[in-house]
This record gives sequence, structure tokens and C-alpha cells, in this order.
Amino acid sequence: MTSPDTTATNLLGLPRPALEAFVAGLGSKAFRARQLMNWVYKRGESSFERMTDLAKDFRAQLAEHACIATPEVVTAQQSADGTRKWLLRADASQAFEMVFIPEPDRGTLCISSQVGCALDCSFCSTAQQGFNRNLTTAEIVGQVWLANQELAGSFAHDGARERIVTNVVLMGMGEPLANFRSVVPALEIFLDDFGFDLSRRRVTLSTSGLVPQIYKLAEHSNVALAVSLHAPDDELRNELVPINRKHPIAELLEACWHYLDEQNGRSVTFEYVLLAGVNDSTAQARALAKLLAGHPAKVNLIPFNPFPGTRYRRSEPEAVQRFRDELIRRGLLATVRRTRGDDIDAACGQLAGRVIDRTTVRLGSRVFGVTVQA
Ligand code: SAH
Repeated sequence: MTSPDTTATNLLGLPRPALEAFVAGLGSKAFRARQLMNWVYKRGESSFERMTDLAKDFRAQLAEHACIATPEVVTAQQSADGTRKWLLRADASQAFEMVFIPEPDRGTLCISSQVGCALDCSFCSTAQQGFNRNLTTAEIVGQVWLANQELAGSFAHDGARERIVTNVVLMGMGEPLANFRSVVPALEIFLDDFGFDLSRRRVTLSTSGLVPQIYKLAEHSNVALAVSLHAPDDELRNELVPINRKHPIAELLEACWHYLDEQNGRSVTFEYVLLAGVNDSTAQARALAKLLAGHPAKVNLIPFNPFPGTRYRRSEPEAVQRFRDELIRRGLLATVRRTRGDDIDAACGQLAGRVIDRTTVRLGSRVFGVTVQA
């Protein structure tokens, strides 16, 4: 990995048109950008010196003006179930996380879009640390690039699909649509044939429901959309997902169906974290089914993952089953997300980006005015 150089342009932050402009700025033909992307994304190469089919002069210029730099790994952990989590450095006192979830037929990387989050959902541990900053495009793309490197380094090169990143979900720390300007170019690089070349169905953006940005996203991207719904009525959703006070459920659903129409998408996935005694009754399942019936919707039920200081409890397995059965009985597609990596706090809602050193954490909290979980 090339070390970050403040004067050099990090190529991981440039989607193809921007890279073409950069290459043209160095006096080379635009098609060199494609060759360059091939090296960077298909072959995982970060040394310009080794990009042997590029002219020597061009390589020297790149070495001087550009770099391929990923976030620095602070710690790496592996769960008993094979899930892996990396804590990545944002700056001296702040960090963010990414999680790799291997499955028999695929490898899903869950990436972060912000350090912390401003949305304050009451059941999410990321919310407790408040908002620190947006990640840059290079930091978002760098997570996927880095994960592929880390996975290649620790497995035999047998090309097994669960050992490389085949799917990307923006379900880590942060609200991706609140960082629209950095996220959209990253999505472009994920989908670009010369980039990671992932199909649009293998890239999922999850949002808590920023309605205007869903309309805007429809103009710029066609990745799969997931929406954190968590409640079948506004009163409860106002409490669980406070952004609902600004953009209530009816408006949110309108935006979702608009997105599907525009993008010719198959369905929207609605995430629903099951909290014992709060949103897991059969009546609430019925209300949820009524809300979504007749629309191209899937429901992904997520057993709540507890974290220190939370007032919520996970629903009993019987309650989860009952809730799911009720949705299915009413014609909805409903799955239960299997909890992965909870022994290393890598499960949904457990990503807190804890920084190793408590002294710097306190310093960070004063500097940025956020409450950081120690
Ligand atoms: N801000 C975006 C992206 C984060 S996705 C969003 O809200 O969609 C993280 C997913 O994990 C969301 O569906 C979120 O609601 C869910 N989640 C958050 N906290 C959780 C917890 N403690 N247990 C289980 N799921 C949780």
C-alpha cells in the first residue's frame, strides 16, 4: 500500500470521468485511465512501478502526483463464525469499522459511510457516539479495496466466492444519504466495468429514510435500496428513528416506489429490528403487512443486537417466528437476518468505532463535541 501523501491525489477517490480528467492533466490520453483502473481494481495493484504496460514516463508522473491509499487498519478481529471486522483510522482519535461476512456462495462487505452518525436512532450503538465527520470517496472505496487485499493475503488464491468481496452493503456506521457527495462517486466505482465491476443487485445502500435524497439518488444511481423501517406507524417510528418526524412513513414509502419505478428495480428491502415488547407484536406485524401489501417489498427482520447501556431487549425466537409467519401469511416476503459476528461486536448496530486509547478518545470527544463510547 502506498502511504498517504497529502499532496498526491488518491486515485481511489476518482470515478472514471474524474480519473480521465486527472490523466489528461498529466498529459496522457484519457484511455490510459481505463488501463490504470484495470491495474488498481482488477489486479489490486498499488505500485505504479509495477504497472508494466504503462509508459515509463507516465508511471514516474503517477508516482509523483498520485497514490493508492486506503485507511489504516487499527485492529483486525475474526469471529468464531468466520466474520471479520476491521477498525480503521479516520484520524488521530477517531475510527470507523467494516465487516466481512462470508457465506457459502458470496462474500459480503459491510462498509461505513460516516464516522459516527447524526440521526440518533434509539436502538443503534453508532448513534451514541454522535456525528464526527463524513468519509471521503477514497475512504469509502478504500474499504472495499483494502478488504480484498486482506482477504487475498489470508486465504489460498483459489478464487472461492466467499473469500472475496462479491457484495457490498452500505450498512456500517453512518447514514450514506447524508454523505451523498462522497457516496455516489463510490457507487460509480463499485459498478464500473473497469472498477469493481459489481452488478447493481450486489450493491445495497441502506438508509434510515432521508426522503429528498432518495429522490436525488434515483437520478444518480440504480443500486439496490434498503430502508430501515422498524415500525409500522409514525408514533412509534418517531421514537425509534427520529428522522421520521421530518419524513413520515407515507412520504418515505412514496419515495421508495418512485425509486423502483425510476430504476426498474425489483423490490425495496425493509429492515425491521425486532425489539421485545416494543415493535414485535402480531398486531404490529399485521399493520406492517398492510402498509407494504401489494408493493414490491421484502422485509428483513433483524434480531436486536444489544450494546452497553441500551434499554432494549432482543425479541424471543418465538416472537420473531410469529412475526415472520404473520407477514408471510399476508403475502409478504420476509426473512430473518442471521446474527453474525456478535462475539466480536460486528453485528448490525454494534459498530461503535471504539478507539483503543481512552486518553485519545476523551481528547477526541472534547475536540469534536461528541459523546464517544469508551
Ligand atoms: N443509517 C443507515 C445505514 C446503517 S444500516 C440505516 O439506518 O439504514 C444498519 C442497519 O442495522 C440498519 O437497518 C439499522 O437499523 C440496523 N441496526 C441498528 N442498530 C441495531 C441493533 N442494535 N441491532 C440490530 N440491528 C440494528
